[in-house]
Amino acid sequence: MFASLRSREANMSLRDELRVPKSGDFDLGSIDPESSPGLPKIKGKHTHKDWARAQLAEIGAELAGMQEQLFATAKVGGSQQRVVLVLQAMDCGGKDGTVKKVAGTMNPGGLSITGFGKPTPEELAHDFLWRIRKAVPPPGQVGVFNRSQYEDVLVARVHNLVPREVWEARYDQINVFEAELAATGVTMIKVMLHISKAEQAERLAERLDDPTKYWKYNPGDIDERGFWDDYQAAYVAALSKCSTEAAPWYVVPANRKWYRDWAVATLLRDTMADLDLSYPPATFDIEVERKRLAKA
Ligand code: AMP
Ligand code: MG
Repeated sequence: MFASLRSREANMSLRDELRVPKSGDFDLGSIDPESSPGLPKIKGKHTHKDWARAQLAEIGAELAGMQEQLFATAKVGGSQQRVVLVLQAMDCGGKDGTVKKVAGTMNPGGLSITGFGKPTPEELAHDFLWRIRKAVPPPGQVGVFNRSQYEDVLVARVHNLVPREVWEARYDQINVFEAELAATGVTMIKVMLHISKAEQAERLAERLDDPTKYWKYNPGDIDERGFWDDYQAAYVAALSKCSTEAAPWYVVPANRKWYRDWAVATLLRDTMADLDLSYPPATFDIEVERKRLAKA
């Protein structure tokens, strides 16, 4: 129904628009969580929400196609290429919804989705990157990290889970780690889903009002909400210190779920398009195989 709109033109610069600059001042507070950058002008009676939802279906089909090519190229050609989408957000920021709507467009067989919660005793006995390394997908797969190595400079910093000099050293350690991954074929794209404090309150209230959402409600989230400003400051530090060429950070305004899903899908699609994926050629003689089949 939106055939007249060329999404590609509209989305050309979404990565430029949402990317956290490599250096210089980064002001998270100036990004309105309610905003929806990069949408085209909509003519007629359709709303941006209609448009974004329709586009998500199309982008999802593109993602699925590229994911298959990635998988096929690793399987047949031995390519080391893989993709990791890192999702970070405040509580109720929409990480789970984004996994469902964006990753859900791809073949589950080629996906590896990992959530990182409070470290287990075993994980705590290792370096903070230990569990992350284990979760890096094998060649050909698209990985999604629901929380990530960044928790160790977010919650760990806000609550002094380790001494200051320990978390301060982690920004560089993360940059080195991510550059190493890039050198082994990992394309990493990192997205902060940016909601407002008022939106978080609404979403927490919804969880209290709806018996089908009690399971999502965590009383601890109210305590964490009290540290909102400290978390925002920790996000600013993490995003500005760790937005690199090898693994850029993007901030997606996420109060509107339809915008969030469209924007994350678009960022991922445009990132994967840069890999110039294609289907691998046959590794056998097609005519010979046809003849063999005819006789078999
Ligand atoms: P959820 O995503 O709702 O399942 O919550 C996971 C919880 O684990 C959140 O409260 C995170 O802050 C916490 N968490 C994740 N990674 C770490 C970490 N490295 N250190 C401490 N807490 C963490
Ligand atoms: Mg939670």
